[in-house]
Amino acid sequence: MINQLNPVEPLVIKLAETRLNEEGVRQLAEHYTALEWLQAARSLQSNDSEFLIELAGRTCYKSFGVGINPNVTRIRGNSKDYLTNVLEKGDGSILEHATVTFAFLNVSRVFTHEVVRHRAGTAMSQESLRYVRPREIGLWIPPDLQPASSKVSDAVNEIERRYRDLESQFDWDRMSFEQKKRVTSALRRILPDGMATHLIWTANHRTIRWVVEMRTDPAAEVEIRKVFGKVAEICMKDYPLLYGDFTRNKLPDGTIQYLPKFSKV
Ligand SMILES: Cc1cc2nc3c(=O)[nH]c(=O)nc-3n(C[C@H](O)[C@H](O)[C@H](O)COP(=O)(O)OP(=O)(O)OC[C@H]3O[C@@H](n4cnc5c(N)ncnc54)[C@H](O)[C@@H]3O)c2cc1C
Repeated sequence: MINQLNPVEPLVIKLAETRLNEEGVRQLAEHYTALEWLQAARSLQSNDSEFLIELAGRTCYKSFGVGINPNVTRIRGNSKDYLTNVLEKGDGSILEHATVTFAFLNVSRVFTHEVVRHRAGTAMSQESLRYVRPREIGLWIPPDLQPASSKVSDAVNEIERRYRDLESQFDWDRMSFEQKKRVTSALRRILPDGMATHLIWTANHRTIRWVVEMRTDPAAEVEIRKVFGKVAEICMKDYPLLYGDFTRNKLPDGTIQYLPKFSKV
């Protein structure tokens, strides 16, 4: 039996983020005789990722208050001023301390080919087409192909028919797991690039800012723009001080480019 094309939509789910160990933070502040500073600062800043980045930055100059480092005569008193200054100066390395993990579901192998090019500060785990023998082909139909969607369906259904035909040449029940893996991997060569897959993607905030900027640019591919638009919305909402300089630039085609005031920190 041949399945009909399963149309899917790319999804972005935030799975995890950096969390502080409050006792460790207290110990650090105690070490710097900055418990008073910590209490005041933490009461105004409840965001763990932003606070960790600020802590890492303040450690560099011992700027947990005036007098701890005799060279420091004034400090930026609140997280907003502190982090805005970090972005403005381009001191982005401290943004590498905090990460976010996303699930990108129903994305194509076109998308995953592109996203793996961003190497710095990322970790990725992608569903394996060596181990997983697909039961169906899911495919997101890009806007440019919508007028021809039934022809797209025909093409994918035809590939799937050929795939099932080839698959039926093997006696899967008698094969070892190792043999199944080898044949499954060989068979995937005829599957389309647009086939839906799933990827877990972790990146630090320095990287996320850069990838959002590059991949929501109008010159980037339509699917990666869509996915990183969703990433941008999540990050602008959840980490307002780290993404507060991004603006939404609505383009004539209705899509949005996310532009930072401070590029590539
Ligand atoms: C619109 C668009 C079109 C593209 N077209 C093509 C194409 O036609 N063909 C193609 O092959 N690719 C293409 N790419 C991919 C592009 O060339 C990059 O490989 C990709 O965007 C990753 O970005 P990055 O190099 O900034 O790497 P990231 O891994 O995101 O690294 C971030 C930054 O860290 C630094 N860095 C990372 N690694 C190193 C290193 N080894 N040495 C020194 N510095 C490093 C660099 O400053 C780099 O910009 C395209 C990308 C876009 C956005």
